[in-house]
Amino acid sequence: MGTAPLPPGSTIGILGGGQLGRMMAMAAIQLGYRVIGYAPAGDNVAASACDDFFENGWGEKEALAAFASRCDVVTWEFENVPLSAVEAIPENLLAPHPKALGIAQDRLNEKQFVELLGAKCAPYARVDSDDDLARAIDRVGSPGILKTARDGYDGKGQWRIMSAHEAEGVRFPGRTCIYEGMVNFETEFSVILVRSRDGEVRFWDSSANTHEGGMLVHSVLPAGELVEAQVEEARAIAAKTAEALRYVGVLTLEFFATKSGPIFNEMAPRVHNSGHWTIEASATSQFENHIRAIADLPLGGTATRFASVDMRNIVGEDALTAHQMLTEEGEPHLHLYGKREARDGRKMGHVTRVSHEAP
Ligand code: AMP
Repeated sequence: MGTAPLPPGSTIGILGGGQLGRMMAMAAIQLGYRVIGYAPAGDNVAASACDDFFENGWGEKEALAAFASRCDVVTWEFENVPLSAVEAIPENLLAPHPKALGIAQDRLNEKQFVELLGAKCAPYARVDSDDDLARAIDRVGSPGILKTARDGYDGKGQWRIMSAHEAEGVRFPGRTCIYEGMVNFETEFSVILVRSRDGEVRFWDSSANTHEGGMLVHSVLPAGELVEAQVEEARAIAAKTAEALRYVGVLTLEFFATKSGPIFNEMAPRVHNSGHWTIEASATSQFENHIRAIADLPLGGTATRFASVDMRNIVGEDALTAHQMLTEEGEPHLHLYGKREARDGRKMGHVTRVSHEAP
């Protein structure tokens, strides 16, 4: 699309069929757009929020072309959409630019990219064999984490190596990995920004995030003094990253707050789980501002409207009894994603609690 705002009634295409696409589609509908999704067959919970949904494989070039021919702009909600699929979509329709995907899909690439922009990372080494792994553990030290460079999410494709002795039992998993030193952090936090087509950048407040088994479970605001002291430095890195990529839309960078400053962990070229609270607690949610940015509409305010915010993921079978929360005091905001199977460790929904009183 060009630089003119996308008129109401235009069609936004979303690659990926998960909950992020579902919430993005709901924001697009509110702004008067039509939405078409595209993802391989599966539990595509975005489909119920879309006007139409293509259930086709990432390798089906004709289906991708048919999807694209019906869209005025195409974005994604899932960063592991294969680049070959994205390349089947005319580049002028895509926002953000697919370069961001190419970088974020590979942990080695993204670390090198943000390091060049001045970010600090945990010590790391590339691992392509058992010998590399032994050398990496020697050089970086233990404890550490071995992660597949590509396709990992929510703690999948990760192995913690607590000591040199434990390392003897770990084998190279057969595809390129990164071995990272374990960071002794106080808190984890994320910087979520939106960048418009003409380069305006706005940040949401940073939440303090808690992960279990590598998966986000909890985000809270205020994030505490340490995060507040480090957020400016982290934002500067995030803004430089967005600028360098001529990014359009919502971009997330995750950091560890340590005694020696913010350490970059990873980036997501999309809306993020740690920003779900923005639906109720911000002037404009991350989902709406992503749509506004790619549609070339004016960005909305990102100020937090409450003194305290608490977002908790609902995982696995907890979803089956989640409606009980609706009787709680304080009006919790419950979101269930409509997934068919409440498998262990699967994100089924989230609940956001807000208050005008400081915690
Ligand atoms: P990632 O998939 O890289 O975001 O890792 C998921 C989670 O695992 C992070 O949010 C941290 O809680 C933890 N983690 C990952 N890498 C490290 C590290 N180098 N040091 C300490 N914790 C880590």
